[in-house]
Amino acid sequence: MGALFDLKANGFFYTRLANPTVDAVEKKIAALEGGVCAVMTSSGQAASTFSVLNICKAGDHVVCSSAIYGGTYNLFNKTLRDLGIDFTFVNPDISDEALDAAFRDNTKCVFGETISNPSLDVLDIERFANAAHRHGVPLIVDNTFATPANCRPFEFGADIVTHSTTKYMDGHACAIGGVVVDGGRFDWTASGKFPMLTEPDESYHGVTYTKSFGNAAYGVKMRTHLMRDLGSMQSPQNAFLLNIGLETLFLRMERHCSNAKKVAEFLESLIKSGKITWVNYPDLESNKYHALVKKYLPKGSCGVISFGVAGGREGAIRFMESLKLAAIVTHVADARTCVLHPASTTHRQLSDRELEECGVTPDLIRLSVGIENVDDIIEDIAGALENI
Ligand SMILES: *Cc1c(COP(=O)(O)O)cnc(C)c1O
Repeated sequence: MGALFDLKANGFFYTRLANPTVDAVEKKIAALEGGVCAVMTSSGQAASTFSVLNICKAGDHVVCSSAIYGGTYNLFNKTLRDLGIDFTFVNPDISDEALDAAFRDNTKCVFGETISNPSLDVLDIERFANAAHRHGVPLIVDNTFATPANCRPFEFGADIVTHSTTKYMDGHACAIGGVVVDGGRFDWTASGKFPMLTEPDESYHGVTYTKSFGNAAYGVKMRTHLMRDLGSMQSPQNAFLLNIGLETLFLRMERHCSNAKKVAEFLESLIKSGKITWVNYPDLESNKYHALVKKYLPKGSCGVISFGVAGGREGAIRFMESLKLAAIVTHVADARTCVLHPASTTHRQLSDRELEECGVTPDLIRLSVGIENVDDIIEDIAGALENI
C-alpha cells in the first residue's frame, strides 16, 4: 500500500485514482490514439477542464480556436476566466501572422477541435501545432467528432487529445464520459513554462513529474494531482459500457460517414428547388475545408451535417417536428439518426454575436446521421420537407 501511494508500484488502491476496468479502457484509447497514457473523466466537460487546468493556473493564458463546442466555450470564457485564466479566441482560418500575434509571454497552451461541434470547421492541426511549438507550448485537440478511427491528431503534431466519449466512442447514448490522452512527445522542460511538471510538487511529497515519469509526466500529474483533488473519475460501470461501444467504433464510423455523404449530397441537390438554403458537410466537394479533409480525414469526417431550410428559424422547427425516424434530442454522434436546432436549445445561452463567432446561424439544423439504412433516412427528410 505504501509503495502504491509513493507511485513506486503499479496497482489499484482507490477508484478515484485508478480502477482495473477504467484502466483497461484507458489503455485501449491511448493505443487507438497512439498516445503514451490516458486519463478517463466523468464527462467530456471534465476532460476539457482537466486538459487545461493540468498546465494552467491563475495568471496564465490560452490561445483557443473560436470554432469549438458551446459548452467548452462557456467553460473557458466564463468559468476558467473567473478563476483567473485568460483566453484569446481565434478564427481557425486565421493567418499564421495573426495567430503568432495572439500569443503572450504567459500563454501555456493552444486548444482546438478537429471537427467543431456544431459548425463543422476543420482545424489545420499541423499549422496550429507548429504555431504552438514556435511559442514553446503544446496543442490540445478535442477529437470527439473525428474519433481515432478517422483522425489521429498526434500524427500531425498535436500533443494532447481530449474526447467526449459520450459521443461516437460510446455510440449508443449509454454512458457519459470523457478522456484526456497524453501523446508523450512534448518537451515540458525546454521552455521553463511548466514548473508544475518540472519542479517538485509539495502536495505529493516533492515528486517532480518530468523526472519520475518522463514522457508520461502530463498524464501522471493529471491523475495524481487533479483527479486526487477534483474527482471527476469515470465510473467503472460507464467504462464497461464505453468499452462495448469501442469494439464497433471502426465499423460504425465507416457507416456514419458513407450515410452522411449520401444525405449531404441529397440535401445539396435540393438547393436549386429553394427548400434547402445551404449545406455544410466537410466531405462535400463544395466545402471550404475539402482540402483539409483530404489531408486529415481521408476516410471521412463524421456523421454530422449542418444545413439551413427555407423559412429560417420557423422553417427549421417545422421541419424537425415533421421527421418520423430522426429523434429530436440534444445528444449527437449516436447510432440513431438525431436532429437538433442549436439556436433554440444547446446554444440558447449565447448572444447573437457569440453564436456567430462559433459559426451557428439561427436557421442551422444539426443532423447527426445514424447507421440506419440510408434510404430510410433520406425518405424521412424528403417527407418532412414536404411540410415546409
Ligand atoms: C459533447 C461534447 C463535449 C462535452 O462532452 P460531455 O460528455 O457532454 O461533457 C466536448 N466537446 C465536444 C466536441 C462535444 O461534442
